[in-house]
Amino acid sequence: MIRVNHYNGKTVEIEGPKRVREILKQLGVLENTVLVARGDELLTPDRTVQEGEEIELIPVISGGMKCKVCGQTAVISLPRHNSAFCRDHFFEFFYHQVKRGINQFRMFTHRDRILVCVSGGKDSLTLWYVLSQMGYNADGLYIDLGIGDYSEASLEMTEKMAETLNRRLIVIPFGSQKMPIAPLAKRARRTACSVCGTVKRYYFNRVALEEGYDVVATGHNLDDEVARLLGNILRWNIPFVAKQSPVLEEENGLRRKVKPMFRLTEQEIAAFAFLNRIQYIRQECPMSRDSTSLLYKRALNLIEEESPGTKHFFYLEFLKKSHIFKALSSDEEPRGTCTVCGGPSLTEVCSFCRLLRRIEKEEQSMKQPLGAETTE
Ligand SMILES: [Zn+2]
Ligand SMILES: [Zn+2]
Repeated sequence: MIRVNHYNGKTVEIEGPKRVREILKQLGVLENTVLVARGDELLTPDRTVQEGEEIELIPVISGGMKCKVCGQTAVISLPRHNSAFCRDHFFEFFYHQVKRGINQFRMFTHRDRILVCVSGGKDSLTLWYVLSQMGYNADGLYIDLGIGDYSEASLEMTEKMAETLNRRLIVIPFGSQKMPIAPLAKRARRTACSVCGTVKRYYFNRVALEEGYDVVATGHNLDDEVARLLGNILRWNIPFVAKQSPVLEEENGLRRKVKPMFRLTEQEIAAFAFLNRIQYIRQECPMSRDSTSLLYKRALNLIEEESPGTKHFFYLEFLKKSHIFKALSSDEEPRGTCTVCGGPSLTEVCSFCRLLRRIEKEEQSMKQPLGAETTE
């Protein structure tokens, strides 16, 4: 039997093997009202499903909305834009939003060498894919954080993408060669997310400088930026609010950092990834469950549900008015360099080098035979 999971929660069993077209006919479902998925793969009506396999029917749109551009059946509705698009026009919309973001903030040109920070998740892999499709010179940087199966699976997805795009992928084996994030965070008495952030920031910058990349790009989306803005405002952290931008200019030994997908929501990126068959790791990072940014995202989604366009307006209007916050936090940030690695740091030793010191100390104490006295 073939198991067919309906979007309304129903599961039907149909005798196989059978073509998708015949399965849909038998169920009375119109071909152009659903996407048919087998695992991560989308199936066209002419594909055959084998006995014992499971497929999923995903509605393209409830109520049979039409594409705003061409009038064909829509695959996605975008209430915040009061719009719906067919597959092709959704892609056009998507690329247009990325292009607009890049141009509006003059992020980079086709001459620049771009280093995309990839985690194996939908946002970063989609960004890498999209920039490559747009003809940009973009390579990938993956940092292994030693989070067990999660890291293994995410590296695999990232390597697959590098192969598909035929681009260079730089892998930093931090977790396996230095120390996995979880014990490191415990020792540093910090949360896993904040230690992870320190490690990532350090390598993004260092690899970009050493390997001659002009700009570092991350897959942050509109939801990420809005949640961060809300968090900063809830705490009235004016210097952080003032600094928030899709572009952080190169300064004080830090490479220029950009977020080309800041105009696109998580949902739009997920749909784009799905429709382009981009394979990414679906599970959330097991370390980030208690992250407050997820709470802000939930709250914002509740508001968005009732009032579409709120997220978009909140962030894009902020960008127009952020000079107000810059004026409020006029005091220049102190600048300095880390006495150990020479990288930018506000303290004598940067937070990454402090983490490394902890690891070294740990290794030294491990070398001491059990029960041995320290003679110092
Ligand atoms: Zn269309
Ligand atoms: Zn340092």
